[in-house]
Amino acid sequence: MAGWSSPYFTEAELRCKCGCGRSDMDPEFMSRLDTLRAQWGRGITPTSAFRCENHPDEREKTTVGAHRQGRAVDIPVNGPDAFRLIQLALASGFTGIGVSQRVGKPRFIHLDDAPAADGQPRPTCWSY
Ligand SMILES: [Zn+2]
Repeated sequence: MAGWSSPYFTEAELRCKCGCGRSDMDPEFMSRLDTLRAQWGRGITPTSAFRCENHPDEREKTTVGAHRQGRAVDIPVNGPDAFRLIQLALASGFTGIGVSQRVGKPRFIHLDDAPAADGQPRPTCWSY
């Protein structure tokens, strides 16, 4: 049982892809994501959401990242959609925005609301 519920997202969509079956999203993050989704007005299918400590993208990390905290999603959008999603995210209080829009790379926007930590000031943004 997940500790969250959403009118827009299913557990299956936000589950860790390592095979562990966990979808331990943070309820506060989910509330923020639902608000964003309502304003967005169309379906959003994240390519990555919760990741446990065994997920390939987390295993090498020395810190507990936003996906592991259940406070991040990667949303496959590009062009004008990417711009609009970032606008909504800024207005919704997300504190981490990662932009992957390079030609020949997967195009997505990472959104999270992880709190600031040592050496990790917030809000912040980065590219891939
Ligand atoms: Zn996992």
